[in-house]
Order: sequence, then structure tokens, then C-alpha cells
Amino acid sequence: MNLKLFKKYISFILIIMTITNYHLFNTITVHANEKKIIYLTFDDGPAGKVTKNILDILKKDSVPATFFLIGEQIKGQENLIKRMYDEGHALGLHSMSHKKNCLYSSNESFLKEMLDTQEAINSIVGIKPTILRFPFGCNNNYYKISQSMVDLLHQNNLKIYDWNTDSGDGANPNANPSLFIKNSRSDKDYVLLLMHCAYMSKNSVKALPDIIKYYKDNGYEFKVIDENTPEEFHFMKK
Ligand SMILES: [Zn+2]
Repeated sequence: MNLKLFKKYISFILIIMTITNYHLFNTITVHANEKKIIYLTFDDGPAGKVTKNILDILKKDSVPATFFLIGEQIKGQENLIKRMYDEGHALGLHSMSHKKNCLYSSNESFLKEMLDTQEAINSIVGIKPTILRFPFGCNNNYYKISQSMVDLLHQNNLKIYDWNTDSGDGANPNANPSLFIKNSRSDKDYVLLLMHCAYMSKNSVKALPDIIKYYKDNGYEFKVIDENTPEEFHFMKK
């Protein structure tokens, strides 16, 4: 090979390397942006052994979750709240009483229950959660969310999170765990999964390992809800 040909050969190789690298870089960048997200959320804790078992599974599988807590259940179960916090889970508000007729009698009574729950959590772990979930959802058979309620909550620095995927373990906690596994499988890019860790949620514990496996196998990133997570709720059409 003469020198001229050799130089041409080298430039050709360099061009190919540049193009290949460019494509490789672009592929990686696109995939990083495309990573799908799962938020595991558990309502109605702390609740004794069930909540403890849920925490054990999350620890074993090294995934974080968000717990929407009932204030009146915290007394005597402070160890579970401490454990959630220490193990990197997010703590959220789910009212003191979880009773529709108390909670939804006025915007002010709803707010008071959330702030009381915030204080109960603060007294144990020294943080004031600002994320909340409406018991039975923002739009339930007893109450529909209004703009005045949203304004009041936002004035108090609180953020609202319904769900976009329902395991079904709230409506029928004793159903077969396989039903919860099936209901929980979504292919959305952004999954906010509703589950429960209440006293009656024994079958949710059985379903959880398979639900985690599904989202791991499908390349999802497990995240906790924080004040930067976009809110999730909608107004019912009148
Ligand atoms: Zn609830």
C-alpha cells in the first residue's frame, strides 16, 4: 500500500469510528431519557405485621416506595414509621380518621386532618410530609374534588396524588393475589400504582414480589414521590 492510499484508508476508518460513536452516544442518551418510572404506593398503614412484611419485601428487593399514612394508627407503631424513613421510603398523608363523613364535611376539616397527620409524623422522624392522598381518591362516591379544595391545599404547601393504576387490593383485599398481580401490570411510561398495607391486606403481601419482578424485568426505575413529582388528580366533568 502506498502512503497516499494508506492515508485515505486511515481517514476512512476515522470517519467510520466517528459515525459509530455518534450513533452509540445517541442511543444511550435516548434510552436514558426514555427510562420508564414506577411509583409503588401503599395506603392505610401503619398496620402491624402486614406493613412490616411489605417493608421486608421492599428491603430484600432493594426498591423504594411511598406510604400514605393514617394518623390515628401511628400511636404504638412509631417503630414502623421510623423504619420507613430510615430505609429510604417516602412518607405521605392520608388523614387522621380515614372516615368519609368526618373528612369530607368541609375543606377545613379535611385540611385539619392532613395537618394533624403531618404533625404526628413530624413528632417521630422530624419531617413534615407535604404529599397527600385523598382517602377513597379525589373523586369518590361521597365527594368530588373542587377548585376551592385544591387552592386551600396548595396554599398550605400540600400536593395531591391519586393513582393511574389500581392493583384492586383496596376494593377487595381478600381476592386471590394473582388478580392483584394481573391488575398491577401496566405498560405506561409513568406508573403510579395503588396498593395497600392495611391490617386486612395479607394478600397484597403475597402479590408484591411478582409485581416488583414484573417492573424490574421491564426495565422500570423505582422512584418515591416527592414535592417535585407532578401532581396526579383530575376534576370530574359536571
Ligand atoms: Zn385509604
